[in-house]
This record gives sequence, structure tokens and C-alpha cells, in this order.
Amino acid sequence: MASRVCDSVLVTGSNRGIGLELVRQLVDSPSSPLQIFAGCRDPNGPRAQELQELAQKHHDVITVVQLDTDSVASIADASKLVEAKLNGSGLNLIINNAGVNIPGSLAESGTQEMVDVFTTNVVGPMLIAKNFRPLLCKAAAQVPHQTSMSCRRSAVVNISSILSSLTTCADNFNLCPMYPYRVSKAALNMLTCCLAEDFKKEGILVISLHPGWVQTGMGGPQAPLTTAESVSCMMKVITSLTEKDSGTLLDWEGKSLPW
Ligand code: NDP
Repeated sequence: MASRVCDSVLVTGSNRGIGLELVRQLVDSPSSPLQIFAGCRDPNGPRAQELQELAQKHHDVITVVQLDTDSVASIADASKLVEAKLNGSGLNLIINNAGVNIPGSLAESGTQEMVDVFTTNVVGPMLIAKNFRPLLCKAAAQVPHQTSMSCRRSAVVNISSILSSLTTCADNFNLCPMYPYRVSKAALNMLTCCLAEDFKKEGILVISLHPGWVQTGMGGPQAPLTTAESVSCMMKVITSLTEKDSGTLLDWEGKSLPW
């Protein structure tokens, strides 16, 4: 039997799009984690129905966790719930997937638009890392014999975007003139770099991962990749991450992207 992806994982924004597919492929994997925490800001709302059905089918593995990544209180409560469910074990993997985009030309973007997108795409992942750090450290310390970093040991994957790249902005700006989104994802990448340095001593790997252009509410129907294609590729990348990948930006095929 293949070795487990990891023992435990938290996916934020997991009620639809890429997040839901991540939970689906994680639980369907022959090497499924023992515990999947599916973060969702409105678990009892109509948009969480598919996730709830999946969680009922796999109630021994999936726990739906109320988690609004814009809310400090929600993040704190979620970390307490996850800690209790882990029953003394650490949390191996966090996939910071929840994200928002809005039409964002310069004319359309003001203080509120910048702050709202920044809150979800940057502050949320930062507060998640801060609140869950003790659980990540615990997981990393539970495998002292295994010195190298991996998602089986302890890792944070920040779902970023090619639109974050400063180097390629001139190639694609006119196609997607999205000020709040681009700026927020560039900031998320800096968060990845800061966390990678900060968490290195604790053995926790941190990367930014671009999922490709994907058919979701955000990506739209004309995107070339289905969620199934993007996520199956990303799972291969996530499960083969090593120390050398920490603090980098990769795409769904594992190719390195320029900052
Ligand atoms: P969707 O718009 O389809 O889904 C976004 C998810 O994030 C939903 O589950 C949504 O929940 C959740 N979410 C948004 N804000 C919050 C919040 N404050 N707290 C908790 N959950 C929240 O987007 P995708 O699945 O396409 O995107 C997933 C990630 O991939 C994002 O980070 C996005 O930036 C990134 N990405 C996507 C690309 C694409 O082509 N699709 C390309 C590059 C990057 P709710 O239902 O409650 O709104």
C-alpha cells in the first residue's frame, strides 16, 4: 500500500471549486489522510451542501470546520476544534486555498476593494499560520528521526496565482488587469517567503502553489483545466515536496515560476 499523503490536513475554503476537489481527491486517495479538516465559512448554508454530503459519506475521515478566514475569532475557534479532534497529535498539512477575486481595474479599485481582497488573500493565511503554528510544530516534532521536510511531516501550501508574478506582469496584465487580486497574491508570496524562513528551524515546509487556470466560480467556464485535472497534478506536487522547495513558487505541474 502507498504511504499515506499525511496523517492530517486542513483545507480552507473547501465547500466549492478547487478546495472541494482537494477534499474529494484526498479522501478518495488509496493513501488518504486519517483526518481531513474541511474549512468552510458557512457549513450550514446552501453552498456547503456538496461538502456536507461528502463529509457524511466519509464521516470517519472528514470533519467540516466552521472557518471564515476573514474572522480572527473563527480562526481561533477552528484551531481549538482541530486541536481537540487531533487528540494530542500535530497537524501535518495546511492548504490555504480560500481566496477571492473581484473585477479590479484601476477605475474599479478603491480602498475597500484593496482591503477586502487583502484581508482574505493575505491576512487570512497569515492568521491561519499563526494560530495553527503550535499544531504544525507538534507534527514536525513527532517525527524527529525524519530530518527532511515534507507534507507528511509538516507543511503549509499557500494557493497563489501566476498573476502574482512581478516578472511576468507585463505579459498578462492587459488580459487580467486585476489590481487587488494581483497585489494580494504578490503579498501572499512574500508571506510564503517569511514563513518559510521563520518555520525552517521547526522543520515546517512552506510554499506558494499556482493551480493553473481552472474551471471554477473564480476561473470561469472557459478555463482550460478542470478542478479534477488541476488538483490531481497539485497532489503529485504536494506529496513530492522536499526541503529545497520551501520558500518557492511552483505551478500545478511542479514547474518553478519567477516571483
Ligand atoms: P472559487 O471562487 O470557486 O472558491 C473560492 C473558495 O474560497 C470558496 O469555497 C469560498 O467560500 C472560499 N472563501 C472565500 N473567502 C473566504 C473566507 N473569508 N473564509 C473562508 N472561505 C472563503 O475559487 P477557486 O476554487 O477557483 O480558487 C481557490 C484558490 O485558487 C484561490 O485562492 C484562488 O485565488 C486560487 N486560484 C484560482 C485560479 C482559477 O483559475 N480558478 C487561478 C489561480 C489561483 P464561499 O462559498 O463561502 O464563498
